[in-house]
Amino acid sequence: MNSLEEVKIMKVLKFGGSSVANADNCNRVKEIVKKNQKSCKQVVVVSAFGGVTDELERCISLASTRNKEYKNVLEVLKQRHQEMIQQLGVSGNLNEKINAKFEEISELLQGIYLLEDISEKVRNIVMGSGELLSSAILSEFFNNAGLQTAYFDSREYIKTQNGKGVYLNAKQTNLNLESIKEKEFEVALFPGFVASGAKGEMTLLGRGGSDYTASILAAGLGCSELEIWTDVSGMYTADPRFVSQALPIERMSFQEAIELSHFGAKVIYPPTLIPVVQNQIDVRIKNTFEPDDEGTLISKTPGEVRSVVRGLSSVNDINLFTLSGSGVIGISGFASRFFTSLAHRKINVVLITQASSEHSISVGIHKDDTELTVEALCEEFEMEIRMNLVNEPLIEENLSIVAIVGEDMGFTPGISGKVFSVLGKNGVNIRAMAQGGNEMNLTFMVRTKDVKKVLNVIHEEFFDSTYKKVNLYIAGLGNVGGKLLEFIKNQYEHLLEEKGLQLIVRAVTNSRKMYFAEDENLLENWEEKLDKNGVQADLQEFVRLMDQSNLRNRIFVDITASDKVSEVYEQILNSTVAIVACNKIAASSDYSNYNKIKDAAKKHNVEFMFESNVGAGLPVISTINSLVNTGDEIVGIDAVVSGSLNFIMNEFNKGRSFAEAVKMAMEQGFTEPDPKIDLSGMDVLRKLLILSREAGYQLEEGEVKHQPMIPESCLQGNSADELLKDLEANNDYFEAWREVMKEKNVRYRYIASFKDGKANVSLKEVSPDHPFYDIHGKDNVISLNTKWYDDQPLIIKGAGAGAEVTASGIFGDIIRVSRN
Ligand code: ADP
Ligand code: ASP
Ligand code: MG
Repeated sequence: MNSLEEVKIMKVLKFGGSSVANADNCNRVKEIVKKNQKSCKQVVVVSAFGGVTDELERCISLASTRNKEYKNVLEVLKQRHQEMIQQLGVSGNLNEKINAKFEEISELLQGIYLLEDISEKVRNIVMGSGELLSSAILSEFFNNAGLQTAYFDSREYIKTQNGKGVYLNAKQTNLNLESIKEKEFEVALFPGFVASGAKGEMTLLGRGGSDYTASILAAGLGCSELEIWTDVSGMYTADPRFVSQALPIERMSFQEAIELSHFGAKVIYPPTLIPVVQNQIDVRIKNTFEPDDEGTLISKTPGEVRSVVRGLSSVNDINLFTLSGSGVIGISGFASRFFTSLAHRKINVVLITQASSEHSISVGIHKDDTELTVEALCEEFEMEIRMNLVNEPLIEENLSIVAIVGEDMGFTPGISGKVFSVLGKNGVNIRAMAQGGNEMNLTFMVRTKDVKKVLNVIHEEFFDSTYKKVNLYIAGLGNVGGKLLEFIKNQYEHLLEEKGLQLIVRAVTNSRKMYFAEDENLLENWEEKLDKNGVQADLQEFVRLMDQSNLRNRIFVDITASDKVSEVYEQILNSTVAIVACNKIAASSDYSNYNKIKDAAKKHNVEFMFESNVGAGLPVISTINSLVNTGDEIVGIDAVVSGSLNFIMNEFNKGRSFAEAVKMAMEQGFTEPDPKIDLSGMDVLRKLLILSREAGYQLEEGEVKHQPMIPESCLQGNSADELLKDLEANNDYFEAWREVMKEKNVRYRYIASFKDGKANVSLKEVSPDHPFYDIHGKDNVISLNTKWYDDQPLIIKGAGAGAEVTASGIFGDIIRVSRN
């Protein structure tokens, strides 16, 4: 190709609102255009400065509701444009132009304010002003920067036809554009969005329509390439605002781009693709802020396929209308009447499904068209409704459509199976679904509140199978909580690299404050974040935000000892969040409550785990579960499961007074926050309840024979100090134990037993040949008699108290839940 021909190449570049939102960004745009100066003629289309169209729309809405605030909003807009020309150094006569334009808008808004009404014509003039202003300013700016720029008013070239929606008069438009082909310029600058109708009145191409301006020009001017410059590096595998793992798609076909944009991928305005498909013009989506990034190439051939699914998108604000009734089968041309009645009112049907029995038809329609749709259907089927052959239209609100798009999906079996199975596992209910006739998209309706989760779940399934992300919400940040967070941090890399598991701490709370992370992992700096940015703790709000986050693989970790927290378990499980609890209250509450929580977990297919409830990090509950699940039967349990009481007894045996031993256990963090829970035996009783229930018995607290370890009189006080005083006062009582132990050569152990349906918790003497005689430090021993472990019980023994082992038990549960 010689250099003369090279110069003739013409390409269209469109810069969106954020690309020209301020002077810095306009300078970036200028640099991008300058780079092409030598190699091609450029047609540049610009949007209004970022956010301006929205503000103009707000002015209209304020004025039409007789709110004078519109004047202030307009004034701010005017100042913004004036500042812009100052900063770009193009003030001169542009100042007058800007003032005149704002004067015109102000008069129109005044009219709207007085009439409380607005015509389409006036609305278009006001809304389209943003592009007329930005293009005038940038044209001057480019000229000043040494780019020979010719300004063209799109309204003189782009012609629309009447009708709801945007109808381009392509023939007339292309004819009008002919004259430009031969013109001399380095840059031809066009305002996006604006056009004109048959009578010359100003029309618009729809919100986001500057993309369309660009593709109309590319087609009409015979360009071979169209570049859409925006604020992201291409069309992503999913909307990056919802799916943080989304990645730019290198290449895709026109059809795939059409499907994705039709179902909400805002990065390209859907009609934009019509002229480029007809003329086979390649489209590249580029990032103004990262101009060296490849971006996405949309062309006839999609190129190498990395994944069968190319991308996902979603549209909100959809209502589902269903017309059903016994008479539907018999009504001739039912479907055709149904759709014709909607078409007559120009209602856009986004999704159609028909039950195979043909007893009903359901359609997804934008919520703004609800009244019109009901009117259309009730009118069309008036007689059938009156005769009870057809029911009145049923409307389901607050739904969204999710689309999965890929050209090769039609040839790949099992895609929908995979989608529905993963959605089912994550508790998402599909309201309706449809598969495009060309089988390159699978669309379905879900509740809007589930959309973010749905997109993430499906994205993870098809695009980033390397890692499984698990989102943690942690309540309780004392000793154990702190240790747990440390464990997770230390194991983070290992789990990621070796197990493909990424643990993300999304939120933390203690009884005073709570903090929800936006998009970060709180592992590194949770203390600082909680301290500086945390808000007042509010359990209901915590649960609500967790539910709303709508991520997949969520675990609520309860490291509190609070009954309030255990009371919200069912609610948490109902929102398909798993629970790992160190808190024993739920599992040891009334059997009916324990059962209700377990049922909720089963129903929603999420886990409720509490291994650290008994024996801290020892594998006690998991061992019982696996014995029971594999057909064994637990016939008896004997357990020393209070690390705290063992520690106290061992210190006492060494010669300390009982009160001293208790004080020491408290100081070293081996007791419950209220040590009476240990000394009364309540903690052991709860553990026995949990063990026997997990072993399959319906045991209630009242059925356990229970004798506190210390005299009742010592348990009456209100504080730890009082308790210690009472223990000292009863010193003789405890010293008498020493005598007995010495005399009989026995040791005292506080033992929980379950046999033949009978449960008992009390202090017992054990002789040197008993497995509970030698228990060191804060060890626990659990002895299980089962059908298989008949002669010799199965014994689990090891450290059973302390922050570290408890945290390890919780951590183990988190990993188990994550793997399921
Ligand atoms: P412009 O003002 O440049 O026309 P838009 O705001 O219209 O830009 O479109 C770009 C935005 O589209 C992105 O910032 C992103 O938030 C959103 N978006 C939605 N879906 C996608 C997707 N699949 N890929 C890329 N961006 C998307
Ligand atoms: N400024 C118009 C809008 O915000 C057109 C566009 O930016 O594409 O909708
Ligand atoms: Mg746009």
